[in-house]
Amino acid sequence: MNHPTPPTITVVIAQCVQRSFLSPLPGPDPRLKPCHLHAGYTNTVRLLGGGPSHLPNVIEDFLWRAHGGENGNLAGSEFVHVIYVDDEHVDDGSELVESHFAQFGRHCVPGEVDTNGLEGYLGTGQTAEWRDLRNGRTHVVRTPGLNDNMYGTGFIPVLQSICQEAEEVYGVRPEDVQILNIGGWSIIKELFCGVWELLHHGIPDYRDPNNREATIRFKRVALSDALSYSVQREHHNIALDITRMIGGVVLRTPQEALAYSGLN
Ligand SMILES: [Zn+2]
Repeated sequence: MNHPTPPTITVVIAQCVQRSFLSPLPGPDPRLKPCHLHAGYTNTVRLLGGGPSHLPNVIEDFLWRAHGGENGNLAGSEFVHVIYVDDEHVDDGSELVESHFAQFGRHCVPGEVDTNGLEGYLGTGQTAEWRDLRNGRTHVVRTPGLNDNMYGTGFIPVLQSICQEAEEVYGVRPEDVQILNIGGWSIIKELFCGVWELLHHGIPDYRDPNNREATIRFKRVALSDALSYSVQREHHNIALDITRMIGGVVLRTPQEALAYSGLN
């Protein structure tokens, strides 16, 4: 019997790719930032392009390819899932929301118009529409807090469903599904959500509905240096160091992220 080699399934976790954090700014003056959590001028130019050197928009170029390019069928993209993990605060006047805004400034409120007159708060340019792709490989998780992206949201069920499909359709064992982190990362998110939890604690096994213990541990977790940011550069550098310390992979260039995801 012929056993073809199973494909490599990649889950791209695109966190905080949102206008409140990553909209283009007219200049580097920090007072131009819409909130304290915004990536800032330098990060925005590095990721979204433009600036005096007319840099390319590397993060949207990567996501465009991950979604399959112009016709949605770019080679390799059928094995790439994208999970948008979005910060979201419905302004219900609750103490939690008010204190969050008091600390960081108002951000990620559904339905609000941003400083560029763009309605809504999701996406930086095209990624807003990409969230609506119905290709079975695009997922959106909305999180009301800063550090609870793993538990109490739809994040783990999405990962479980991707793993289940990978196993049933392609014969890929869940632990062989690989993770790639892009987008916004504070050091806390990096440690507890991006790499540490996935690599060392994993997710509950979907095959046993009564099992709430994390028993699927991903063997391959990467962070893309070129496609991620922290508000402070030193936090970004620490995140890269920690990723390596716990056995994750740091991908330097956008090309390395594409190669890792089988998209080139
Ligand atoms: Zn927030």
